[in-house]
Amino acid sequence: MSLPIVAIIGRPNVGKSTLVNRLAGARESIVHDEPGVTRDRTYRRAFWQDREFVVVDTGGLVFDDETEFLPLIREQAMTALSQASAAIFVVDGQQGITGGDQEIASWLRVQKIPVFVAVNKCESETVGAMQTADFWELGIGEPYAISSIHGSGTGELLDELILHLPIMEEVDEPEVRIAIIGRPNVGKSSLLNAFLGENRSIVSPISGTTRDAIDTVITRNGANYRLIDTAGIRRKKNVDYGPEFFGINRAFKAIDRCDVVLLVLNAVDGVTEQDQKLAGRISEEGRACVIVVNKWDAVEKDSYTIYDYQEQLNSRLNFTEWAENIFVSALTGQRVDKILEIVDRAVEQHRRRVSTAVINEVLEESTTWHNPLVTRQGKQGKIYYGTQVSSQPPTIALFVNDPSRFNDNYRRYIENQFRTQLGFAGTPLRLLWRGKK
Ligand code: GDP
Ligand code: GDP
Repeated sequence: MSLPIVAIIGRPNVGKSTLVNRLAGARESIVHDEPGVTRDRTYRRAFWQDREFVVVDTGGLVFDDETEFLPLIREQAMTALSQASAAIFVVDGQQGITGGDQEIASWLRVQKIPVFVAVNKCESETVGAMQTADFWELGIGEPYAISSIHGSGTGELLDELILHLPIMEEVDEPEVRIAIIGRPNVGKSSLLNAFLGENRSIVSPISGTTRDAIDTVITRNGANYRLIDTAGIRRKKNVDYGPEFFGINRAFKAIDRCDVVLLVLNAVDGVTEQDQKLAGRISEEGRACVIVVNKWDAVEKDSYTIYDYQEQLNSRLNFTEWAENIFVSALTGQRVDKILEIVDRAVEQHRRRVSTAVINEVLEESTTWHNPLVTRQGKQGKIYYGTQVSSQPPTIALFVNDPSRFNDNYRRYIENQFRTQLGFAGTPLRLLWRGKK
């Protein structure tokens, strides 16, 4: 989603969060449902007339001494502002101009985006108009008398504000969210650097905060790839936790948020138990996956090495046996440029939809070759028909007489038939066996 952002800025207690609530309305739609975003700023969806936008509150700071909190507000506000297309500077009309307002105003004046002064707490019109005029002194432009509590005046402000919001270009293809995960020292951050070195435009993150989850978006051939939690990848390892610390929760969170996982292995170590655990999670969560075997430069090779390796991957990473493998070196850059090509393929399969006709052709063919075994009770399973019910990952419902008449072997056989006949490389495939009610 790509909507213009409006930052709400001002000292504590001037009514910023009240204003945000008013603009965002009763709809409790917090925009970023992405975990990892700290709670000190909230992004909420708002609209006025036919324009939709996102308001971000910079509040949440409570200090008594104004001089103490100003740097903090500034830092918060700066971050919000760097992403915003416009700002509303909220001041307290009942209190009048304070030193804090003056300071905030002085750096708002040098920002490049349009800023609107909202003189809040102006419920009474006569008093409001008088007080409001004082705020011209801030040098930011026309002050708008509003009451966030009553809603008065906000319409005039928004009328003007939306004229200044850019029309965001619609992205045709949704961006691809990539999680780079793996054990410590397999080369995740080296790989990240190799990516960043290779792909020209780096767009700064929309979600995420300074300390926590920061994503980086790279563009290649007109497509956007969001590298999830690049801060986590870069974070200095082993400082607090010792060398055995795996950071598995952070990895799991990244898996939750992505479309495709780059599961990075160290070629020198081969497949470890922790790698298997990660592969299990990827498959459980239904994410697409590319197995990146890194440090390939450090492996002594003969002509069989790669085949031996492939075999090891297939047998030891059976949760993700459908994933494509690539052997790279983040150090020398070998084949790093091929990774995104494989990501593209995996994502395409992950999003793929297959017609009911084709699915039933595969089913007919498969059952003709190989019928379900007759159970001990003398009953035989029968598949009536199948249809794809969702994608990401592709999920196919099979309507059958009785699911208990299909053993694991047969279920695997059917899944393999779908894979051999239709592809689906790089993505998990889900089959739902549904009986007659
Ligand atoms: P923030 O710290 O800037 O986010 O401020 P809040 O939204 O939490 O509001 C601070 C105080 O000002 C609260 O007690 C609000 O009820 C009050 N307040 C907010 N807007 C108005 C308003 O339009 N009129 C009046 N009289 N009080 C308001
Ligand atoms: P991370 O903990 O997964 O982020 O791993 P790093 O990117 O910090 O790499 C750990 C160590 O492996 C560093 O000393 C890197 O220089 C080294 N390394 C990373 N990629 C390669 C590679 O492709 N080949 C070799 N030989 N060493 C690598």
